[in-house]
Amino acid sequence: MIIDNLLNKDTLNKEELVFLLGCEGEEKTKLFTKAAEVKAKYVGRKVYFRGLIEMSNICRKNCLYCGIRSGNTNVHRYNLTDDEVIEAAKFAWENRYGSIAIQTGEVSTKEFVDRIENLLDKINKATNHELGITLSLGEQTEETYRRWFNKGAMRYLLRIEASNRELYAKLHPNNRFHDFDERIECLKALRRVGYQVGTGVMIGLPFQTLEHLADDLLWMQEIDVDMVGMGPYVEHPDTPLYRYREHLLPISERFNLALKMTALLRIIMKDINIAAPTALQAIDPLGREKAIKVGANIVMPNITPGAYRNDYKLYENKPCTDDAADDCKNCLEARIQLTGDEIGYGEHGNSRHFYRRRNQNLA
Ligand code: SAH
Ligand code: SF4
Repeated sequence: MIIDNLLNKDTLNKEELVFLLGCEGEEKTKLFTKAAEVKAKYVGRKVYFRGLIEMSNICRKNCLYCGIRSGNTNVHRYNLTDDEVIEAAKFAWENRYGSIAIQTGEVSTKEFVDRIENLLDKINKATNHELGITLSLGEQTEETYRRWFNKGAMRYLLRIEASNRELYAKLHPNNRFHDFDERIECLKALRRVGYQVGTGVMIGLPFQTLEHLADDLLWMQEIDVDMVGMGPYVEHPDTPLYRYREHLLPISERFNLALKMTALLRIIMKDINIAAPTALQAIDPLGREKAIKVGANIVMPNITPGAYRNDYKLYENKPCTDDAADDCKNCLEARIQLTGDEIGYGEHGNSRHFYRRRNQNLA
């Protein structure tokens, strides 16, 4: 296959994607250059912030890769108070971050659902209804998604983790809490309710092949997502998947693949929002900046109160767990300036794809 021809095509098939995922050297440089061009043309050279609030690490699920899975008894469980969440949101607002993202383990009790509903009201009041709000609170009923949407949450991130059913089954316990079809149904429900819908996968998982990753890209295109957050799998010693660590690609190779996935996604889904995942930085100190250069346009600075950061360890070597939110901000600003992009301070930076999709439906 000739790279220049491939990169000028409007659509890429599985075979072509597999080829591009494997490219190196000069070919890889061409891939990255093309992705940067597509980004500049379709979403502009602007990076938007989503201040990340890791509200609680309490989770009812037991995903085999995740450090805060319910079965891990080595975790100190915490739950921020409403005031702590509101303070973090105010920090984001005062520093003109534009948006926040609230993430937790999965809980779906009535108490939790009510709490989020009230909290959304409180956050909006405290920040003059100016912040864009993303939720990443796992699988919930359509009714719950609707209640939160009606309180002003506008985006929802629910990664499929692996779009291949068999691979998904290897990464999760086999019970009703970890049902592939249920996760797909949740993504459809989010779409029906009216959210900007985000999903994503982990890259470099045990048992995962380049074919799986090519299919992940095609699947995201097929379900027509508005935003994507995907990043390298980083093994955690207190998880069942850790036993396969010897079979994993070297961490630098997982990192490399994550950059190629980001670049390819930008090329095939030109106007979506793509997050530069924090997990990249766990591997390479300049990881997020590299992702921005090859197509990512969203960064999620961690604004969780410092005291809790160490307890939200999904994977090993999570960066910035010792920093206070302010340090993070200054360091990120400098880092993004180095990429040549500008920061969309005070802007929501919503998915352009979402608006295009909605306008098409109205027409
Ligand atoms: N409980 C919610 C959100 C919190 S988990 C949910 O599962 O949707 C957020 C993301 O962390 C998950 O979607 C998963 O992709 C990622 N994650 C978990 N363990 C990881 C690991 N070991 N390496 C890389 N990413 C991981
Ligand atoms: Fe819970 Fe999410 Fe971790 Fe799964 S990935 S164990 S749902 S926090």
